[in-house]
Amino acid sequence: MLKRKDFGDTFKWGVTISAFQNEGAAYTDGKGPSIWDTFTQDTNNIKNGDQIGDASEFYQRYEEDIELTKQLGFEVFRFSISWPRIMPTGTGKINQPGIDFYNRLINCCIKNQLTPYVTLYHWDLPQALQDKGGWCNREIISWFVEYVEICVNSFGDRVFNWVVMNEPMSFTGLGYFMGYHAPEKKGIVSFLKAAHHTILCMAKGGAKIRELQADANIGVALSCSYVKPVNKLKKNIKAAKRIEASLNRFFIEPLLGLGYPSDVMPALKLVKAFLKDGDENEMSFDFDFIGLQYYFRVVAKHSLQPLVLFADEIHPTTRKANLNAMNLDVYPKGLYKLLKFYDAYPQVKKMIITESGVCYPDFLAGDRIHDARRLKYHQKMLKQILKAQSNGINVDGYFIWTLTDNFEWKEGFEPRFGLVHIDYESQKRTIKHSGHWFKTFLNKKTSID
Ligand code: BGC
Repeated sequence: MLKRKDFGDTFKWGVTISAFQNEGAAYTDGKGPSIWDTFTQDTNNIKNGDQIGDASEFYQRYEEDIELTKQLGFEVFRFSISWPRIMPTGTGKINQPGIDFYNRLINCCIKNQLTPYVTLYHWDLPQALQDKGGWCNREIISWFVEYVEICVNSFGDRVFNWVVMNEPMSFTGLGYFMGYHAPEKKGIVSFLKAAHHTILCMAKGGAKIRELQADANIGVALSCSYVKPVNKLKKNIKAAKRIEASLNRFFIEPLLGLGYPSDVMPALKLVKAFLKDGDENEMSFDFDFIGLQYYFRVVAKHSLQPLVLFADEIHPTTRKANLNAMNLDVYPKGLYKLLKFYDAYPQVKKMIITESGVCYPDFLAGDRIHDARRLKYHQKMLKQILKAQSNGINVDGYFIWTLTDNFEWKEGFEPRFGLVHIDYESQKRTIKHSGHWFKTFLNKKTSID
């Protein structure tokens, strides 16, 4: 039987959304274009030729969504700021209507007793900065720090919880290595440059927040996967270690002052070409919490392809796996293993699950959606957290991805993750069964299975 109180009094219950995936209003009130506005203009880039349009219209409907969050019993609302909404060309000129929007949003959270957790970067780089090389241009460090300063100076009287970046491996890996996401760059060189600059930005961004706001609670949100070798053959075990280093260690270790995990990833030696004097020290920052976002398990084997890692994933559709609607291997037990893995770093003080969710098709029956599989998934994840806590691991929050269905990047609108269904024709919000369950579960007066 899951009971809210078993997670502890300080445990934070929240939902997470992101600017590009929810706001819409891409060209409204002086906002500049982001790399994702550019990318989605070509609907061939998006599954089913989906057009993002106004996404879930969060820019207009934020009050309704904040009220829903409160109604479901959550206390934290995590959202991201769109850099080009407040700085249309990424540096220099500030767009006051953009600042005004986030002021309205923050005030609305506070009015509804929701604590804002603000992500400073969730992948929507100003196009004007990409035109100058984006994350591959080392100047991004000063652009990013300038942007961070504007955010803290504008919102820091009411926002105390900051997530400097969301899933650096996802946006550098998919966008600068595989060319699958915006801005469609490919290859190890652009990836390593982008990743190295991203790490410096996270560390320097964190330091800038600390300088401006001594009592800030500062974290990063990192993607991670439970990686398992396909069998006990030594070469497959080693291959799994390399994949694990790339997915789970690559960003956190430099941030913790441990340098790049080049022990198991020889390709990382190439990063030296982009290292300047002093970088090794400047890559680290003393974060107050590490946000973890675990969506899928990876089964690994040795391979001569792809060459960078000499390892490959055995695709979940070709083996026995519990698939979600994006054909990812959903494996809640991996969460405990990951929490244990990160807890072993003495520098990690506290962990928060800053995103957790699953996509399955939803079917409306009248005005009800019985998303039993999504609910089961969250319940299983929560049990893993209790297990971690009972083993002394400091995990102090669970934020659901996501409140309402939204635009899933290259996969368009098809994958639905929300606790609340959206009919994109009418923008009508309908609370799913999983949302109703959380409402009862989070209500301090009730307890249910
Ligand atoms: C990202 C979200 C995304 C979610 C579901 C995370 O990797 O932060 O933007 O929608 O996963 O795929």
